[in-house]
Amino acid sequence: MKCMECEAELERIDSAHLLVCCGLTLQEYAVRYGLPLDHLVSPDQVAASQCAPECPVPVRYPSNQARAVLQGLRMAGRVAEEGDLTVVAGEVRTLDLLLWDLSWLREYGFCFRQDYDYGDGAHRIVARNHLLTPSANLRRADGYPGCPVPPPDLLDVLAVCVAHAAILQRDYLFLELHNPSDGTLVCDELLGQYDIRLVELDSGGGQTVLLRTLTAADTGRLLELLADRLAAMPGVAERFASQSPSATVVKELVFDAAHFITDHPAKCSNLHGGRYVLHVKVHDRIDPVTGCVVDYGYLKRVVNRRVVDRFDHHMLNYAAPELAWRSSTEMLCVFIWEQLIDYLPGLQELQLFETTQSWCIYSGPDLAEFQRRGPSALQRHFTDRTLGTSSLRGLIRPVSPPALRAVDQR
Ligand SMILES: [Zn+2]
Ligand SMILES: [Zn+2]
Repeated sequence: MKCMECEAELERIDSAHLLVCCGLTLQEYAVRYGLPLDHLVSPDQVAASQCAPECPVPVRYPSNQARAVLQGLRMAGRVAEEGDLTVVAGEVRTLDLLLWDLSWLREYGFCFRQDYDYGDGAHRIVARNHLLTPSANLRRADGYPGCPVPPPDLLDVLAVCVAHAAILQRDYLFLELHNPSDGTLVCDELLGQYDIRLVELDSGGGQTVLLRTLTAADTGRLLELLADRLAAMPGVAERFASQSPSATVVKELVFDAAHFITDHPAKCSNLHGGRYVLHVKVHDRIDPVTGCVVDYGYLKRVVNRRVVDRFDHHMLNYAAPELAWRSSTEMLCVFIWEQLIDYLPGLQELQLFETTQSWCIYSGPDLAEFQRRGPSALQRHFTDRTLGTSSLRGLIRPVSPPALRAVDQR
């Protein structure tokens, strides 16, 4: 087999050769030359992950920065226990960031490994980039008697968490944390010390906390606050600053629902139902690290939770007070937009098909505009407390009940 980097004829190409020859791991080499891993990985390298890792000896007192990196990765949900090992998951696209983590986590006895497994559902060889250490090393470091353990600087921890878990949508930074108490800590500290506002969004149950910067100005202040720390981590500052191409992604979701239109002169006044088809379009830059505008899975989860679960197999008129009077496609679109914009600041357009012949296209205010103006007045007529206070209401004369008459029995 010929190495395409150095043209040497080799029995097999592996990371051991490549790291010396060109500095790449086998997976990066495979991606660079568009080769399936199945053609490069030999059987004895598959499932080698079951071998014990060759880890360095941990230091007695991990430094503040090492503890900040470990805590930041925990906050980002990147640390897991697997048997006797503690594992930090990484990705091939951000390998240098994972190695930067390692430069600190060696103090805990972590080592890097690229393992190859025959994926259960994948039907191909998949690579896994991760850092490993025996869990006992962490317990030793945490519980060492006499070990000075001032908590690491929260900004150091947060910078690591942001580098690994933050997603920039438009001008808003989204951060999913894996421990509710971390969410409170981060929000309070940033607000109290730096006047940076984060809002907690509905993460859809479970243990995670979904945070977002309140405004674009808060995003700017947060990235500025962490700038030096992020600049030290490979690829991170560039990722958030990158002017990569933009694209529009569309997700189609359907729901079955019934409704009627109040005071409508034609058939729509009757209770009727059908299958609604909703197209949600999001326009944003392509994130250079994920290669996506927005993850379709996230998009689907948000729309399902905020809209479809509420509408599917329901009476639209009673699914939300805003729709009680008119559940026309137009009113539905305004309502749906307001349900989604906090979660999808790149939201560009909605298309809602009531039938294949009738549909509505709608673009509402962007998030900054929505925050300024609040929900649309269009849907407020019946919930407005001034309704019913007009003096004209005095013209309405209650109808007196018909007087009871004694029935003549004779
Ligand atoms: Zn080579
Ligand atoms: Zn209808």
